[in-house]
Amino acid sequence: MRREALSTWPGWPVRWAMWGGAKTRWIAYALGCELFAVVATGTALATGFGGPVRPVWFAVLVALGVVQAEMSRRIERLRRWMSGQTHINVTSVWYLAGVVLLPPAWVALLAVVLYTHLWVRVWRQVRTRPAHRFVASTAWAMLSCFAASSVLAVLGLHGTPLQTPRGLFALCLAAAVFELVNVGLVAAGIYLYTSKRSAADLVGTWEDNAFELATLCLGGLAALALVEQPVLVLFVVAPLLLLHRYLLLKQQLQVAAVTDEKTGLLNTAGWHESAVREHARAQRRGTDGGFAVLMIDLDHFKRINDTYGHLTGDDVLAAVAVAISGSVRQGDTVGRFGGEEFVVLLPGIGRADVLAIAERVRVAVGELNVVISTGTGTGTGTGTGTVRVSGLSVSIGVARHPDAGPALDDVLRTADAALYRAKEAGRNRVAV
Ligand code: GH3
Ligand code: MG
Ligand code: MG
Repeated sequence: MRREALSTWPGWPVRWAMWGGAKTRWIAYALGCELFAVVATGTALATGFGGPVRPVWFAVLVALGVVQAEMSRRIERLRRWMSGQTHINVTSVWYLAGVVLLPPAWVALLAVVLYTHLWVRVWRQVRTRPAHRFVASTAWAMLSCFAASSVLAVLGLHGTPLQTPRGLFALCLAAAVFELVNVGLVAAGIYLYTSKRSAADLVGTWEDNAFELATLCLGGLAALALVEQPVLVLFVVAPLLLLHRYLLLKQQLQVAAVTDEKTGLLNTAGWHESAVREHARAQRRGTDGGFAVLMIDLDHFKRINDTYGHLTGDDVLAAVAVAISGSVRQGDTVGRFGGEEFVVLLPGIGRADVLAIAERVRVAVGELNVVISTGTGTGTGTGTGTVRVSGLSVSIGVARHPDAGPALDDVLRTADAALYRAKEAGRNRVAV
C-alpha cells in the first residue's frame, strides 16, 4: 500500500492565494518530483535500462490493476471522500509484482496507467481530490516503483527465479526500498505543506504501516504466482478486495466515533480530542500561544420543539451548526456538546479578536431564516409543507487560555460560567 499526502490541498494553481512562504517550498518539491520522475522514466526507456520488457507482463498487470480497481470502485470513492491525512492505496500490490517482472521504466509507466484509471473512474468525482494532487501522487508512485526496480536491476537480481533464497532476498529488498522511498517522499510532502512534525502525521500510525505490510505481502505473492502459475494470482484478488473493504470500515468507524450525527460537527469526544491537542500545542508555545473557547447555547430552544416538533428542531440545529461553522475560520474546531449547546475552539487568537468572532456568531444565528420542508403539506407555519423558522438567538460564554487558567478544564469551566451569566443577563449576548 502506499500513502499520498494531504487532505488540506491548495487546489488549482490559479486559486492558490499564496505563492510565497511555506507553500513555495511545497510547490517546488512537487514539481521537482514530477520532473525527476518523467526524466528518469524517459532516460531509462531510451537507454533500455534494466533489460528488455516482456509486453505481456505489462498488459497482464495493467489488466489486473484495472479489474481490481473496477471491482472496488464504490469502496474507493467512499474512502477518497473520507480520506484524512494519509491515504493508503491498495493498487500498489500490482506495483510490487511489476518491480519483479518489469524493467524500472515500465513499472513507472504501470503506475501512470493505474493512477490515470483511478483518476478517471474514482478521484475525479471527489471534490477533495484536485488534479494537482493526483499528479504529485503519481510522481511519488513512479519514483517508488522506479527505485525498487532499479535496486534489482543494478544488483543483477532482476529476473532471478523467485523461489530461490536469492530471489526471495530480491523480493524483500524490493519491497523494503519501495516502502522506504514512498514513505520518505510522502512524509516530505506532508512536512513541507503542513510543517507537521509528529511521526503519526508524517509516516502514519502503526496500523497504517501494518496495512502497507499486508499489501506488500500480497504483492509478493502475486509476483510469485505470476511467475510460477499465473492462474494462482486470482487467489490474491479476493483477500485484496477484502482488505480494501476493511480499510473503508476502519475509516468509517474512525469518523463515526468523533462525529455528531445530527449536525456533522465533531461530537463531544471528537471535540475534546482536538482541544487536548490544541491545549498541548499552546502550552509548548508559551505566552503567545493563546486559544479561546466559545460556549454557545440556543435561547429558549424548547419553544422551537414545542411549536414545530422535535424533527424540525433537529433541522434547526443543523442550520445553526452551518451558521456557526461559516462564521469562524477553517482551522477552528466546532463541536456539538449534545442538546442545543455548541462549542468552538479558536486557536492562536488574541483577546480582542475573540469577542469580535463571538459577536459574529451571535449575529449569524440571529439572521438565520431556516426553511424546512415537512414533506406532508400539513406543516405548522405556512400550511404548504414547509415551515420557516427565524428570530433565533444564542447566548455565548467566552474564555481564553491562558487567561482563564492553565488547564483545558479551567477554560471550559470559565466559558460555561460566562455562558450562564449571558443567560442571566437576558440572553442573546456574549459574556466574558
Ligand atoms: P435557555 O435559553 O435557557 O437555554 O432555554 P432552552 O429552552 O434552550 O434551554 P433548556 O436547556 O431548558 O432546554 C433545551 C432544550 O433543547 C430541551 C430539548 O427540548 C432541546 N433539545 C436538546 N437536544 C435536542 C435535540 O437533539 N434535538 C432537538 N430537536 N431538541 C433538543
Ligand atoms: Mg438553550
Ligand atoms: Mg442547553
